[in-house]
Amino acid sequence: MKTIGLIGGMSWGSSAVYYNLINRLVNKRLGGFHSCSCIMISVDFAEIELLMQKNDWKKLDHMMAESALKLEEAGADVVILCTNTMHLCASAIEKQLSVPFLHIAEATGYELVKKGLKKVALLGTKFTMEKDFYRRYINEKFGIEIIIPDANDRETIHNIIFNELVKGEVLEISKSKYVEIINKLQLQGAEGVVLGCTEIPLLISRDDVDIPIFDTTKIHAECSVDWALR
Ligand code: GLU
Repeated sequence: MKTIGLIGGMSWGSSAVYYNLINRLVNKRLGGFHSCSCIMISVDFAEIELLMQKNDWKKLDHMMAESALKLEEAGADVVILCTNTMHLCASAIEKQLSVPFLHIAEATGYELVKKGLKKVALLGTKFTMEKDFYRRYINEKFGIEIIIPDANDRETIHNIIFNELVKGEVLEISKSKYVEIINKLQLQGAEGVVLGCTEIPLLISRDDVDIPIFDTTKIHAECSVDWALR
């Protein structure tokens, strides 16, 4: 088994889900006492959140690339970043590493293709929905059309992530708001919805909506385990 390096802490709650998933998946595949060989570096999310607010992506690039390098130096054979938003720093990370970096949008794109979908909705932080790093990646690499909620709904989605989900709060009222927004996107032709924020799966699950959901935390964790066991 290869060793997976995880850049976590954004938020720590979703990183705990990654840790749980990769260990369960390895045990399911190898049985017995097997668990995942991995190393996690977990950042202080307060620093990250402040830099995001200031739009200081240069500093964030530097911090993410430095974390990735520490993982490689500690023995990681592959690196994953346990957040969608921070994939804005993907190029800086890739430049720093000589081991592979598994991009969350690439793993997600393959799942969308497997299900034969042509048009999907994307939910995530404002950075993920509004900047084009994620939408363009999936659109150009996989030819899939991505639609996003309108400005008001984007605000709602983003605020629930930062005011509740990253703090571990999961509220019924917020779940209803998400479901309502997903239903609107379905009416606009979305055949599926990408939960493009690693905390959204804490709130929304398959049975809550009529279209397939794509849980990026799970997809990314599975992809890294496939890689480690290949
Ligand atoms: N974990 C979230 C994501 O997947 C949001 C927190 C962050 O900005 O990193 O985008």
